[in-house]
Amino acid sequence: MFETVIGLEVHVQLNTKTKLFCSCPTSFAEHQNSNTCPTCLALPGALPVVNKEAAIKAMRFGYAINADVNHTSYFDRKSYFYPDSPSAYQITQLHKAIVQNGEIFIDLKDGTQKRIGVTQAHLEADAGKNIHDGGISKVDLNRAGTPLMEIVSEPDMRSADEAVAYLKKLHSTVRYLNISDANMQEGSFRCDVNVSIRPKGQKEFGTRVEIKNINSFKFVASAIAYEVERQIEAYEDDIYDQEIVQETRLWDVDKGVTKSMRGKEEAADYRYFPDPDLRPLIVDDEMIAKAKELPELPDAKVKRYTEELGLKRYDALVLCSTKELAQFFEDMLESGASAKTSVNWLNTELLGRLNKSGLSIENSPVSASKLGELVSKIDDGTINGKGAKDILDILIEKDSDIDELIDSMGLAQVSDDGAILEIIDSILEANQDKVAEYKAGKEKLFGFFVGQTMKASRGSANPQKVNQLLKERLS
Ligand code: ADP
Ligand code: MG
Ligand code: ZN
Repeated sequence: MFETVIGLEVHVQLNTKTKLFCSCPTSFAEHQNSNTCPTCLALPGALPVVNKEAAIKAMRFGYAINADVNHTSYFDRKSYFYPDSPSAYQITQLHKAIVQNGEIFIDLKDGTQKRIGVTQAHLEADAGKNIHDGGISKVDLNRAGTPLMEIVSEPDMRSADEAVAYLKKLHSTVRYLNISDANMQEGSFRCDVNVSIRPKGQKEFGTRVEIKNINSFKFVASAIAYEVERQIEAYEDDIYDQEIVQETRLWDVDKGVTKSMRGKEEAADYRYFPDPDLRPLIVDDEMIAKAKELPELPDAKVKRYTEELGLKRYDALVLCSTKELAQFFEDMLESGASAKTSVNWLNTELLGRLNKSGLSIENSPVSASKLGELVSKIDDGTINGKGAKDILDILIEKDSDIDELIDSMGLAQVSDDGAILEIIDSILEANQDKVAEYKAGKEKLFGFFVGQTMKASRGSANPQKVNQLLKERLS
């Protein structure tokens, strides 16, 4: 039996207005190389200055994951040559990062939580882009110098499920904190996966391979599954030491395999040294105060939803999985809907319909206040669930007035005692033999009376009321 060991390195692009060491905008530029200046072009003599906003955002992440936020940290140069990096080094933080020793809690399928250690989160500058266009290659430096935060985990994960749960938690956390768009397709949330195996019970870790730049949660899971199988097979075939070497591999999406890309560089290959152009990054009280302005984070929200609103833990986890969904839910409550009815109508009815139409909560055609209004009508017995589903089907297609729909579709439930009693009495009158049997002890006939009453009201009677009044009449 083998155990899988996984550690993740995630690059998050911070959503600052300007680059990490110059005042060039990080926003979209129409022309290649237009968002550049002597500093991010690495012209001789141009000096870098640290962007405070980027530092505050990294610090905010640090406080959110219970980490040590260092009041003094340092920048190092990592040397490598590649055309998209004109300085031939990357400015990063190796020796003392701004954030160290954090933790992230993931929820496992069995309902328990597991702690994953975060070794550090450091600031570094992104490279530009090489564009291969027919026979020629071009370099675009618009992205050069964009602030990244690299989040390095401890090798604490033991399965692909745990790795994906960690990534999702990280993803939602940086979005709750509003420090990154974290768009995987656009590359503002990029993930390198380190994987090794070892026989169960063995203390030492096996040899790890690093799979670079995987851009979807699904591919992370598939790449790990493939890699684990490859390593176990090598072990069982007694060729582990020859086959499994510390290297960088790539995930080939089309073939569904990992492929060797290059041998793994050792730290020495990068000739790291402290950047002589940058002073230590010292954070002041104002920066600390700003960084400590934290929104309510997913773990706290789940706790509040379960303890104060009485939701099931699973439901609370779904609602808090993204800040947009949690906000939608809270807006529904704001418009008067009850928490328990809202959960089902949001998680099942609305999300189900959005899913079918390929939409997400961010572009839902039904607003939170609209769904909240609909749910309130179920809560107060104006309409029943069946009627509400018909209305929701219409709202998905076209925004409409709910009261008008209830009228025109004849969906109003009769909750008025008098009207319901009138129906009940006529049913009991017409079924006197059954009433006698019921009174003699055949209690399952109760369902028959409910059914008949609902039928006679053509489904418009409030079922709770029918139950209550029938019980009174028959006792
Ligand atoms: P490097 O600097 O070469 O990238 P690090 O020591 O920073 O190496 O580790 C990078 C990542 O690899 C970390 O997330 C760490 O948890 C993970 N890692 C280290 N050893 C192993 C291993 N044996 N198996 C799986 N992951 C590992
Ligand atoms: Mg590393
Ligand atoms: Zn610049």
